[in-house]
Amino acid sequence: MNLPRPSAAADWDLSAEEALHRRRVQRMLVVGGGVMAVAAFWWGGYFAVQGAWLLVAVDVLIFATGVAVVGLAWRAQLRAASLLILPVLLMVLTFQALLLDAPTAIAPRSVHLYLLPLAVFALVALRHEKPWLAFGAPVLCLALFLVFSATQASWEMGFQLPDAMRLWGTWINAVFAVSTLFVMLYILQTDASPLTARQIELRKALARGQLVLFYQPQVDAERGVVGAEALVRWRHPTRGLVMPGEFIPLAERTGLILPLGDWVLAEACRQLELWASEPALSRLVLSVNVSAAQLHQDDFVSRVIDTLQTSGVAPGRLRLELTESVLVEDLQSIAAKLAALKSQGVTLSLDDFGTGFSSLSYLKRLPLHELKIDKSFVQDLMDDGDDTIIESMLGLGRSLGLLVIAEGVETEAQWRYLRDRGCHLFQGYLFSPPLTLEAFEAYVRQPQRAALTGLELPVEGLPIQPSVG
Ligand code: C2E
Ligand code: MG
Ligand code: MG
Repeated sequence: MNLPRPSAAADWDLSAEEALHRRRVQRMLVVGGGVMAVAAFWWGGYFAVQGAWLLVAVDVLIFATGVAVVGLAWRAQLRAASLLILPVLLMVLTFQALLLDAPTAIAPRSVHLYLLPLAVFALVALRHEKPWLAFGAPVLCLALFLVFSATQASWEMGFQLPDAMRLWGTWINAVFAVSTLFVMLYILQTDASPLTARQIELRKALARGQLVLFYQPQVDAERGVVGAEALVRWRHPTRGLVMPGEFIPLAERTGLILPLGDWVLAEACRQLELWASEPALSRLVLSVNVSAAQLHQDDFVSRVIDTLQTSGVAPGRLRLELTESVLVEDLQSIAAKLAALKSQGVTLSLDDFGTGFSSLSYLKRLPLHELKIDKSFVQDLMDDGDDTIIESMLGLGRSLGLLVIAEGVETEAQWRYLRDRGCHLFQGYLFSPPLTLEAFEAYVRQPQRAALTGLELPVEGLPIQPSVG
């Protein structure tokens, strides 16, 4: 049966909901495992003093399980952690409720109160399991809770906790169990509401056309404009212009970055095509930021090529900016994708260069065209007079035969310094902040802004071969 492929927006809904769910389970596991380890540590100490070594052994097991659960949850192995904590806690709580915590005239039973937060946890964590487990586990927790609340069921054993101790234990268990229940419910609720509200708002912004591109000029050594970086902004109906730092991280966490990135790419290509008919604008190269999630899509290359073909733009006019963090994972497959894009004429820039793993081996393996020196290095340049980092970046660019662009150039002194040491291109407030489309076009149309000679950028626009995977 051929089901229709969900749209990008539906894809995003699913991944956003799933990401939230996983975060909730992870936080519950960390809280649950932590409470387990702390409680077992204290009780284990008490039983050791009393010489009840069988109970000490049980507490060591509980402590080790709690630590293992926190460790697994930390490494996002949520299913393993959930399937470990649930049976161990069910067994331990049943064992304690029957053997150590039988109600007396002085002290009621209390350890079974932990079954309530455990039921909430089971309901959330086992949501994707088979129905017998997804419903069976929480129902079993509640059934045991009912039995231990309503009966005096107990088993005799040699060791008896003193009543005074049990009385204190009742309070400690009640406070711990109710607090854990409260934290579980709090996680369930707070994780969901503000994040989803902001996600929904951002998704609507995309659908309603509230996102816009700003353009920041990139200039050559004569200050002629050779291109621009497209930077997204959100024209919020009440908050005004929202900067990408406030919503790109949310988009990345929730998967919305995929439709958002598609939109930015399509909009940038549409704009390039509009500029193609005007001599002052037709030679500009437009840089577009690409996120890791976009690059890891299986069909990333064909998406870019399709967008270029639909808009009719020469691929050499488009430059994709990747950050070093994108390259940490699966370098081989990324290098293959980038090579496929390069073969079509699209050029690639390494953004925020110097802030990540600047390893020579990957620089050599990637078909890069440009290194973009991160603005932090440009800003440090004049502050402490230390120029060795910038010089080695320029040297590296030269030896690899790459263009080098410096971002965040704010002063004449920074610009002169970089230009005199062979930096090719520059971007920063010294020349212009990111501008609206109209302001950018007006900026480039001023006769003194035209790039006269300078660097010959590769804008040849190779013909597109349709069969690219
Ligand atoms: P980036 O790609 O490193 O962009 C450069 C940032 O530096 C921009 O901030 C720009 O406005 C700012 N900048 C430019 N010149 C100067 C200067 O002289 N001094 C200083 N201090 N800053 C300068 P913006 O626009 O807030 O963008 C921040 C980041 O958001 C970008 O960093 C990029 O990582 C991300 N971003 C922006 N648009 C997009 C997009 O369409 N897609 C994706 N995936 N990320 C985007
Ligand atoms: Mg960038
Ligand atoms: Mg940057």
